[in-house]
Amino acid sequence: MKKHNFSAGPSILPQEVLLKASHAVIDFNNEGLSLLEISHRSKSFVDVMEKARALVLELLGLEGKGYKALFLQGGASTQFLMVAMNLLEKRAGYLNTGTWSAKAIKEAKLLDDIYEVASSKEANYNYIPKGYDIPEDYDYFHCTSNNTIFGTQMKSFPDSPIPMVCDMSSDIFSRELDFSKFGLIYAGAQKNMGPAGTTLVVVKEDILGKVSRKIPSMMDYKLHIGAGSMYNTPPVFAVYTSMLTLEWIKGLGGIKAIQELNEKKASLMYSEIDLNPLFKGFSTKEDRSMMNATFTLQNDNLKDTFETMLKEAGISGLNGHRSVGGYRASMYNALPIESVKTLVEVMSELESKA
Ligand code: PMP
Repeated sequence: MKKHNFSAGPSILPQEVLLKASHAVIDFNNEGLSLLEISHRSKSFVDVMEKARALVLELLGLEGKGYKALFLQGGASTQFLMVAMNLLEKRAGYLNTGTWSAKAIKEAKLLDDIYEVASSKEANYNYIPKGYDIPEDYDYFHCTSNNTIFGTQMKSFPDSPIPMVCDMSSDIFSRELDFSKFGLIYAGAQKNMGPAGTTLVVVKEDILGKVSRKIPSMMDYKLHIGAGSMYNTPPVFAVYTSMLTLEWIKGLGGIKAIQELNEKKASLMYSEIDLNPLFKGFSTKEDRSMMNATFTLQNDNLKDTFETMLKEAGISGLNGHRSVGGYRASMYNALPIESVKTLVEVMSELESKA
């Protein structure tokens, strides 16, 4: 039986995507060969790469606006450094909203000066700072749209006078935004898009080519754009599976339709957290993430009972990150609302037992 998968990442993918991807591993396009044993330069795979790149721009509403989509490797963690290598000349502004922002800052500091425009570190990152200034003579401004560990999410974005770079690893394709506000977006695939192994980068071409440093080939966005995201052997399985997920999103009606479902799931989850006296939400209400709901159980004596009940209900992946503790219900795009209903039922049943 398929479990209710609340894992924070790698995380749930649509069942039909898993079925198609597993078929392609055995026999790709009914060509009598596995996706994993054909040349990445074959027409069949080049078509996959091109389709995936085009679908990204289509779903984000960025077609014809000077953006390019790339499927790279090294995870979002490599982007922490790659962004700075390609864009940082003298100084950049970073919004520090969690562990991943802090890691992005650490890597960029290897190259040049970084200024934290604001931080919520003093409150263990349970809110998103607001009302900060972004100096217009900096090279770029970097933020993290969704803080996977702490369960906070930026509900609005500043009107940045300089290119805005955003780590959208844990909420890409989950809600409508004006994506043309961003100069560069990156996201590890393993939440809303596909398996681990590829990282999506969407970059506005005109922000590139402005730094004086020499950029190593594999770190150079311009070079990857020139090579059609095929400078070296791409992670074919991760790109193909991502393409299938992008098709699935399009088939559902695009990001708008997904957002409606995500709002319903989040509202069910947070209502239970707020109404059930046994549980307490971690993040400030106005900044709550639609993807990752973080909460604690108020009565330690009920921990074992709760966890047994979760197991019996087939609920998996609910443990919170060690820096927050408690529980984290990750409700990515592919998580059915029935899974959230099951979790909420277990939580309210616990209340009736207490
Ligand atoms: N940024 C965010 C917001 C994340 O959630 C994660 C992974 N959980 C990362 C960056 C790091 O991604 P990767 O493991 O692909 O390097």
